[in-house]
Amino acid sequence: MIVVIKKNQEQKQVDNLINWIKDLGLNVHLSEGENTTIVGLVGDTSKVDIDLIRTLDIVESVTRVQEPYKNANRKFHPADTIVDVAGHRFGGDNFQIIAGPCSVENEKQIIEVAEAVKKAGATLLRGGAFKPRTSPYSFQGMGVDGLKLLKKAKAETGMPIVTEIMSEEYIDDFDGVDVMQVGARNMQNFDLLKRLGKLKTPILLKRGIAATVEEWLMSAEYIMSEGNPNVILCERGIRTYETYTRNTLDLSAIPVLKERTHLPIIVDPSHALGISRFVKPMCLGSVGAGADGLIIEVHNDPAHALCDGAQSLRPEQFEDVVNCVKGMLPVVGKRMDR
Ligand code: PEP
Ligand code: MN
Repeated sequence: MIVVIKKNQEQKQVDNLINWIKDLGLNVHLSEGENTTIVGLVGDTSKVDIDLIRTLDIVESVTRVQEPYKNANRKFHPADTIVDVAGHRFGGDNFQIIAGPCSVENEKQIIEVAEAVKKAGATLLRGGAFKPRTSPYSFQGMGVDGLKLLKKAKAETGMPIVTEIMSEEYIDDFDGVDVMQVGARNMQNFDLLKRLGKLKTPILLKRGIAATVEEWLMSAEYIMSEGNPNVILCERGIRTYETYTRNTLDLSAIPVLKERTHLPIIVDPSHALGISRFVKPMCLGSVGAGADGLIIEVHNDPAHALCDGAQSLRPEQFEDVVNCVKGMLPVVGKRMDR
């Protein structure tokens, strides 16, 4: 971190700042020019309150030269992290496709969809039991009963399951869940993130609706700094001024993240676009951008889905997407494990 001091400041004030920095356990590199004094902070500056320094009367400007995230930072961990989910690997040259309905609705529905997506080539099954809905009057998910049905679908198909956890209250019921999803709305639910950091279960961390890449990585940092290294990031679109799609899929985040972090990153084009016919081109775009996988909503009867029918693919549409994605994978040097 570099602090530029305003011209003609009292030396005593500058010394006070330097001593305060040293008290934080940091070293100081001082550069005194004719007009400007520059104070370089050397060491782990992640705990330094940059805004506090900025508001000091003697300070002209403050610039961070080191990212505030450590565990997620590629600088400290150059190799790609591989997150292993029951033998299915996320990251490196692996590519995974997670598919299933937005919500678990009943036994017949989840088993049928699970079998269909497995047949089409999905490697993991998704299905929401706890649903974060904008309206309290919308279907809220089947809750614990939904988790039970999802586990039944896992037992019948052998597919690992991915489902959203909204509150730590139900954490014990998630026993047997292979990937716990933290949804966009909970990306900054720090108590939940810290609790999930105490587990070893892989966490699918979705990007917040208006989160910057750095805020998103700081949320990953919350999980990792508690001891859980198994974080998979998921770009699911951000809110912009555009209204023709549900959100705006930020594919540029993928190459940016690949440079900044070693964590695997997958894309959810269903929630990003919100319209089923736009899902396929964005799946292919995600592969091209370097994603490590996709999570796609599939329903056997989208017209009667209790949640997100408009963006859900029918199984045969999903199969077409899988085949096209498979065709593209050699171009980006990735492969599916089945
Ligand atoms: C979901 O995956 O069903 C979901 C609600 O996603 P998001 O948190 O990205 O909106
Ligand atoms: Mn959904």
